[in-house]
Amino acid sequence: MPFPKAKIIILDDEPLMLQMLTKLLSAQGYQTYPTLDSQQALLIIKNESFDLILMDILMPKINGFEFYEQIKEQLEAENIPIIFISALQGAANKVQAFKMGAADYITKPFRSEELLARIQTHLQSRQIQQQLQAQNQLLENEIKKRKKAKKARKRAERFMAGALDALAAHIAILDNNGTIIAVNAAWRNFADKKGLMSVNYAIGANYLEVCELASGDYITDAFAVAQGIRSVILKTKKAFYLEYPCHNPETQRWFAVRVTYFEDDKAIFAVVAHENITKRRLAEEALKQTNELLFQLATMDGLTQIANRRQFDTDLNREWQQALGEQRHFSLILADIDYFKNYNDYYGHQMGDDCLQQVAQSIQLTLINSRGLVARYGGEEFAIILPQTTLAQAKHQAEIIQQNIAALNIPHAKSEVSSIITLSLGIATTLPHLEYSAEQLLNQADQALYEAKAAGRNQIVMREI
Ligand SMILES: [Mg+2]
Repeated sequence: MPFPKAKIIILDDEPLMLQMLTKLLSAQGYQTYPTLDSQQALLIIKNESFDLILMDILMPKINGFEFYEQIKEQLEAENIPIIFISALQGAANKVQAFKMGAADYITKPFRSEELLARIQTHLQSRQIQQQLQAQNQLLENEIKKRKKAKKARKRAERFMAGALDALAAHIAILDNNGTIIAVNAAWRNFADKKGLMSVNYAIGANYLEVCELASGDYITDAFAVAQGIRSVILKTKKAFYLEYPCHNPETQRWFAVRVTYFEDDKAIFAVVAHENITKRRLAEEALKQTNELLFQLATMDGLTQIANRRQFDTDLNREWQQALGEQRHFSLILADIDYFKNYNDYYGHQMGDDCLQQVAQSIQLTLINSRGLVARYGGEEFAIILPQTTLAQAKHQAEIIQQNIAALNIPHAKSEVSSIITLSLGIATTLPHLEYSAEQLLNQADQALYEAKAAGRNQIVMREI
């Protein structure tokens, strides 16, 4: 018995018939709701859940067809079959019953087996129908869910595309093979400007190959970008960043490329963003140049283009501190152009400046391979720092300076010591120690220079302390 718990309403105005039907069905294990009266049947129909109705047609207050009209809507909604069971034999009645939607029509007297078989069939078909409906419902729900998910995905895609398009950076998303799977508007614009090359930057192109096959000036940078993308995709690096020049004959441009990644389930995607940083770089370059210029102005002598007094003081301090640690001889030379006031008075300031420049450059060149510094110390006075230099070595340097100045052969009609420009030089040398200072050594060099001048100029005087 496949439906022992099926609930069946039995409506018949003949008590004996009702009793007989109820007994028959109950014996089969069905749960029965016997009723003689349509009003009572209506109450059961409204309040109980049930699976089938077995109904008489000829009844006193309302006949079966009329009653069926009243409850039809509910039965159809719940897929409940109705079986008419009637003494009416006419074909017209049967036709009417089926037209109205009845599941079956059984005439009295009937055979029990036939009635039971038909009830069984209709319950079975109802069950199948209900299963189908349930499956349909599941399918519909699934379809709805998918539609909703698809809609949500589309919305997320639109949202992401909108956000990416709003950015000025050129952005491409690559799969783990380096194939471009999405780009933003700025990237598309950039690709469009590449003309025939644009296909290299379109969705479906392999950006790693594009970078690795790049030629020309950018080859190193492009290769580095490809390496960077690989390392991010392989997760050996969290991100990659590179600033690179992309100049053309008309304009200087710089870009920065930033590569990051994100994961979706097991897949990994790289985000490549190129950003134009020309403005920032130009500002940085300008600042750098300004700083260099300021530094030069602060440390160079404007006329002679060698270090100024300020630079000399700074360097002297630093070199002296270092010399204290090195424990090597340390020398200073002070040099003065002989009778320079006379030269200026006689030849004029323009010639005087030219002379200073030539002398300064000559001394600078003489010492170009030496550690230390040549500075303009005063008007026509030059100071030379010579770390790791003994008195003999300093003297040798001073002599070469003298020779080079002589070789300049600058006429000096008003010199009382020569017909050309000459120098007086004072040298002071010491082995640095803490009880002695660079200032004291400088003072000694100054005194040596004074002696050289007092002794008739154009000569070298040395002091070792
Ligand atoms: Mg009847």
